[in-house]
Amino acid sequence: LPADIFPGRRNSAGIDIADPLVREPLLERLAVLDARRWHAEPTFRSPEQGEVAPITQPQDLTHEVGTRRDALPEEIDVAITRAMAIQPGWDSLGGEKRALLLEAAADRFEAHTDEILSLCQREAGKTLMDAVLELREGVDFLRYYANEARRLFSGPLPLPGPTGEENRLSLHGRGVFATISPWNFPLAIFIGPAAAALAAGNTVIAKPAEQTPLIAALAVKLCHEAGIPEDVFQLLPGAGEVGQLITSDPRLAGVAFTGSTQTAQAINRTLAARDGPIATLIAETGGQNAMIVDSSALPEQVTRDVVNSAFQSAGQRCSALRVLYLQDDVAEETLAMIKGAFEALAIGDPEELATDVGPVIDPDAKAALERHVARRKKHGRMVWRRKMPRNTAAGCFVAPTIIEIDSILDLRRENFGPILHVVRYKASELGRVIEDINATGYGLTLGLHSRIEATRRFVEARARVGNFYVNRNQIGAVVESQPFGGEGMSGTGPKAGGPHYVARFATERVVCIDT
Ligand code: NAD
Repeated sequence: LPADIFPGRRNSAGIDIADPLVREPLLERLAVLDARRWHAEPTFRSPEQGEVAPITQPQDLTHEVGTRRDALPEEIDVAITRAMAIQPGWDSLGGEKRALLLEAAADRFEAHTDEILSLCQREAGKTLMDAVLELREGVDFLRYYANEARRLFSGPLPLPGPTGEENRLSLHGRGVFATISPWNFPLAIFIGPAAAALAAGNTVIAKPAEQTPLIAALAVKLCHEAGIPEDVFQLLPGAGEVGQLITSDPRLAGVAFTGSTQTAQAINRTLAARDGPIATLIAETGGQNAMIVDSSALPEQVTRDVVNSAFQSAGQRCSALRVLYLQDDVAEETLAMIKGAFEALAIGDPEELATDVGPVIDPDAKAALERHVARRKKHGRMVWRRKMPRNTAAGCFVAPTIIEIDSILDLRRENFGPILHVVRYKASELGRVIEDINATGYGLTLGLHSRIEATRRFVEARARVGNFYVNRNQIGAVVESQPFGGEGMSGTGPKAGGPHYVARFATERVVCIDT
């Protein structure tokens, strides 16, 4: 069935921050929220008190946003026990009732726009524009998966009965799902996989990234206020060790993970070593994303799309452009234009409206990116870096950087920040360029700027990537319109925000009745 058969779903309206009548009062309300302190802790707490850790702002490590209390081993055990006990009831509620609850949660998110935007800015260092997009995506996921619950779980599918018997196929929740999420979309990617698992009739224990538990705690609270029972959707804050403990529990039916490729591989090993049911692993991981620009491309369009793809969100998007391939005939001129736009990027406090590039998430991320730039400099490569403004010393800022390299294969890992690599290629080498991109083993996004239809067909036929973008930027996939996710080292699929996603969280049962 086409998804739009259900007229109920509407995309989030978003917020028009270009309109001063909307923006100015919003900024005033956000300024008031600056003083608010938040706390994240497990949904069901044991009497024993665990350690409380501060959460500070990436843009100013001297400013605390709130505190996090990690889940203790006995709390993980209790969470899974409760989630197991209530799962059959949640499953038998049916698609329509679960859809209504997820839609109520979406409405509640929109009603709490200010708090969500404030936390996206202060806990995750997002610019206002990025924060608005994040909220929209979270709301879109909830409403899209709600409709998927209706589409897939509204009753059994009758099947042919050639000898007169009655056959029917139905979908059910698998059991308890753990969702483990990253900090870079602390709301959208926290709520998206959880909403899909819930839509399919699973109960969910959710472990947010250790850097961003506060937004996650607010999201879970809003879902409870919307009527989703506490036992059905629980929060378990903590770092990787908590994730490791959760995933080693033999009672889990599945894990929906988004984060780095290395962590996905570690979780895969943990799941394989457990007894109990063979767990489903849905993993959405990193990328080594390229864009190819040939001599037929429009330079102004290329400049805008390269700068957005590489530097928006300080390069901390899994889809972000890492390696730009420029055809040699136009490389000099195109690079000069890109550098012009690069020099114009405003770097600094994400709470300032003019800021284009905010901080990276934490000191470890900053150190890893700086090590990468230093190594490239040592190898004698051309490196351009932006001078940092003076007001950035207290935060985790990395100067936007452009580095020339020979091939995408010179890079061994994803560099998750505002660093763009540039490679020059000859038109005759296009086939090899695509082979190299495929040879990284990643397969998330690929961009192409070309006016030549045959080139587009050539690249499309060979590239092994999940999302291929032509003559536009390669970030910001829209729920339902551009289902998102990669292949190979970039993930297992199915694509988030797409028509095959929710079904992967479900198990199928067939009933055959002879008359
Ligand atoms: P990460 O892998 O360091 O952490 C992700 C989550 O896994 C965190 O919640 C972390 O606490 C948890 N974790 C760490 N070790 C674990 C273990 N052994 N067992 C269980 N859980 C464990 O990733 P990150 O730094 O938070 O996020 C950035 C990464 O996410 C980048 O690689 C980016 O490309 C990727 N990402 C991918 C997508 C996608 O859709 N493909 C989207 C966003 C981010």
